Amino acid sequence: AHTSFSSQAPGKERTLIVVKPDGVQRRLVGRIIQRFEQRGFKMVGLKMLQVSEDLLSNHYRQLRMKPFYSDLVQYMTSGPVVVMAWEGHQVIQSSRNMVGQTNPAEAQAGTVRGDFSLHVSRNVVHASDSPEGALRELQLWFRGQELLDWECIDESITCEDD
Ligand code: UDP
Repeated sequence: AHTSFSSQAPGKERTLIVVKPDGVQRRLVGRIIQRFEQRGFKMVGLKMLQVSEDLLSNHYRQLRMKPFYSDLVQYMTSGPVVVMAWEGHQVIQSSRNMVGQTNPAEAQAGTVRGDFSLHVSRNVVHASDSPEGALRELQLWFRGQELLDWECIDESITCEDD
């Protein structure tokens, strides 16, 4: 079961991406998925849900003492989110780059936050920030059987086996 959340195999790294309630409300889900698909990453899990405060307080447990924490909980539970697991070569770092800086005012154009958002409290998307974080968050948001192992026919073209 553990292997569905992370793998040592090259090219098989996995990360968690969440389209936050503002992204769902603004109908940005399709455009966000498209960016990951066009980069060459493989979707291995996808669902829509209303987050519980329990799950969220676990997810953001390092932020509990921050002044913005209660607003963050209110925002993240204000409506449905779309949760995704993506797999591919260095997907954790690449997706952080694709998502951009936490504060959209500092995020580069071309990033999700830099293209679609203005303010740090409404920054459209979450991406795991490290291998440990990705493993922890995938285990928190998904059940093992919700993550699929499947072969995409272009994998041997987009990524050399190493
Ligand atoms: N956040 C906020 N105000 C802040 C800093 C963060 O509302 O001043 C929210 C924002 O939604 C951010 C989340 O808290 O995405 C988690 O913050 P973190 O520092 O972990 O940034 P991330 O990993 O999301 O870039």
